[in-house]
Amino acid sequence: MKFEDLNLAPAIVQAVREHGYETPTPIQVEAIPAVLAGRDLLGGAQTGTGKTAAFTLPMLQRLSQSERGQNRFGGNAIRALVLTPTRELAAQVEESVRVYGKHLSLTSTVVFGGVGMNPQINAMKKGVDILVATPGRLLDLQQQGFLDLSQVQILVLDEADRMLDMGFIHDVKKVLALLPQSKQSLLFSATFSDEIRDLANNLLKDPQSIQV
Ligand code: AMP
Repeated sequence: MKFEDLNLAPAIVQAVREHGYETPTPIQVEAIPAVLAGRDLLGGAQTGTGKTAAFTLPMLQRLSQSERGQNRFGGNAIRALVLTPTRELAAQVEESVRVYGKHLSLTSTVVFGGVGMNPQINAMKKGVDILVATPGRLLDLQQQGFLDLSQVQILVLDEADRMLDMGFIHDVKKVLALLPQSKQSLLFSATFSDEIRDLANNLLKDPQSIQV
C-alpha cells in the first residue's frame, strides 16, 4: 500500500514524502479511507503507531474541500478541534498539522495552560481553521467569551484514556457540549475502560473501529 493509493490529495502526499515517509502505517491504511468517507472512528492505538498522521492527513483533506466560515469576531471559524491531554502532545500534534499541511492554505494554532492568555485570545479572535488544545485552557478561553466552536466539523479526542486518567472528564464533557451535534468525531485511546466506552458510545455515531 502506498500513500497514493489512499485517495489523498497530491499536495498532502507530497508533504508526507518530503517528511520522509515512504509507506503508510497499518493504522493509516485503515483510518484514512474511513475518515475521508466521513465516518466516525474509534481507534485503539498507542503512541508510535502513526496515529497522528492517521487522523491529521484526512482531516486536512476534508477541510481543504469544505467551505470556510466566519467566527463572530469576523475571523476564520474553527472547523477542526483536536483535544489532547497534555501541552507536549498538543504542541506535537499542531506541529504535525503544519508539516503535513504545508502545501495547503489552512491555518492552525495550539492553546494550552501554563502560558499567557493574551496571544491565545488574539489568535482566537483572528480565527483558525484547526485548533489543537488541552481541555482546561480551552474552557478558560470559552468562559471569557473568546471561543466560538459553533462551526466545528471535525473533532478529534487524542489519547482519551490519558485525558480521563488526568481527571479531565468533566472538562471534556463541557467542551463536547459546546460543539454542533452534526460533526465527524474521532476518538483514539490506547486502553478501553468502561468510562472510555461510555464516552465513545455517547459521542460516536456508527463508528468504524480500528485496533492496531
Ligand atoms: P505517532 O504514533 O503519531 O506519535 O507517530 C510516531 C512516529 O512515527 C512519529 O515520529 C511519526 O513522524 C512517525 N510516522 C508516522 N507515520 C509514518 C509513516 N507512514 N512512515 C514513517 N514514519 C511515520
